[in-house]
Amino acid sequence: MNILEKRILDEGIVLPGNVLKVDGFVNHRIDPEFFMQIAEEFKRRFEHLDIDKILTVEVSGIAIAFAVGLAMNKKVVFAKKNISKTLGDDVYKSSVYSYTKGVTYDIMVSKNYLNKGDRVLVIDDFLANGKALEGVYDILNQAGAELVSTGILIEKGFQNGGKRLREKRYEIESLATIKSLENGKVEFENSVDF
Ligand code: 5GP
Repeated sequence: MNILEKRILDEGIVLPGNVLKVDGFVNHRIDPEFFMQIAEEFKRRFEHLDIDKILTVEVSGIAIAFAVGLAMNKKVVFAKKNISKTLGDDVYKSSVYSYTKGVTYDIMVSKNYLNKGDRVLVIDDFLANGKALEGVYDILNQAGAELVSTGILIEKGFQNGGKRLREKRYEIESLATIKSLENGKVEFENSVDF
């Protein structure tokens, strides 16, 4: 059994437009014990790699990345979506188009927290069209940091992001990959038990 797939089947809601609502345990409410189980699986997949820090994107990536950071004893940096007075101008910045929201937004990381040569593990909640990850990779590139691998909670395999990025030789590990959300029914592919 894959505990994430089970949770998606039990609590996920398919919304119009092929959107999976997982507010009950990812995007609005968090179950810390469950996220620590998730983090142990990410740790199992990534602990052989030499990683300096974890990078995610606010808001929903933070809790997952925090759990992975705790499990793997690594610091976690999150890209910000909103300008704040404390952030300053000395930032790496990239623009991301969100199909789900129909808007373009900037993601920013302070130059204080990402350095040339840093070996970075990227963690995020969803991979759909891959635009969010491309923005994160762009920021790593600007910083001269090294992308070690990427861990995704839920990949929508029927959208083209994962395929496109893997064709470009990006290494991406997804804990649950959705094959289809047709007729309100969630179907998985490449299922791995944990
Ligand atoms: P991408 O840039 O790969 O198209 O989408 C990644 C981002 O879109 C994620 O960070 C997530 O916020 C959001 N997203 C895309 N599809 C879904 C979905 O079906 N459900 C939820 N909850 N978020 C999604």
